[in-house]
Amino acid sequence: MAQLLDGRSLAKVVNAETKQRVAALTDRHITPGIAVIMVGDDPASMIYTRNKEKKARQLGIKSVLKHYPIEIDQASLMNEIAALNNDDSIDAIMIQKPLPKQLNETELIDAIDPAKDADGFHPLNVGKLFDNQTGPYPVSCTPRGIMRILRHYQIPLSGARAVVIGRSILVGKPIAALLTNADATVTLTNRHTKDLKKLTREADILVVAAGITHLIDQADVKPGATVIDVGMHRLDNGKLTGDVDFDDVEPVAGHITPVPGGVGPMTIASLMAQTVDLAEWRRNG
Ligand code: NAD
Repeated sequence: MAQLLDGRSLAKVVNAETKQRVAALTDRHITPGIAVIMVGDDPASMIYTRNKEKKARQLGIKSVLKHYPIEIDQASLMNEIAALNNDDSIDAIMIQKPLPKQLNETELIDAIDPAKDADGFHPLNVGKLFDNQTGPYPVSCTPRGIMRILRHYQIPLSGARAVVIGRSILVGKPIAALLTNADATVTLTNRHTKDLKKLTREADILVVAAGITHLIDQADVKPGATVIDVGMHRLDNGKLTGDVDFDDVEPVAGHITPVPGGVGPMTIASLMAQTVDLAEWRRNG
């Protein structure tokens, strides 16, 4: 039976740390601030942004929702980002996806001040990560949370064979870079990968971020492996599940994250911690 990698409990620890760090800043009359840019009324995005606002408030972080109509044009949004870059009360800026088609997401992300890049998506910060620079710089929050889980549970990384399924800039690529920087030997796969399951069966660490319900079952996992399930899917019965068939894999894995209660809570806790990082770096600088 695998040891459960309990992201929900660890997120509480991270949030308690963040709250203390916020208090230390407040003593210096500094309130860390995050601005969330949202365009249109996508119901899932509304829930995500509301959850972020709630968590920020709980931790003493100022959260500003910049909510724009679905028809906003590129130039107007670029101006809004410039204003946030110049707003000294804002330490972190993030853009909630999805964005409507008329907007050029790449240009918008490039326009965010890299020192206020809450999601770590700005190419300068991505470049620093891939260059394994010592920092400080922000990194994508889901991979950041995964690394904290691996560290907390003392999963050996140096020399380990890691397989990452999915190559998004949000999850797959940055976690592959972080694991590489931690001296793991990483195979980064995508939907065109041949013999994927042959690769997964050799992995000491398997990170699954394909967005396919139960892509991975017991036969795909090396006994004793650490399995990190990033996927999130709502089943017809209303329950949440992941890219990994948890009940099937759990008996053979060494360590495994549940869904829900694994990577998800660590992502939002990491976003809050990163907001405070950005506040400290910018205001101590
Ligand atoms: P994405 O759709 O941007 O990327 C999916 C990637 O998986 C692509 O690179 C694709 O090539 C690859 N892929 C698809 N099928 C594959 C296959 N059969 N074999 C190998 N690779 C395959 O997705 P994303 O944004 O990286 O998110 C992935 C999943 O993680 C989604 O379910 C998403 O909801 C979830 N997610 C959860 C959190 C969290 O906090 N828990 C955060 C981000 C994403």
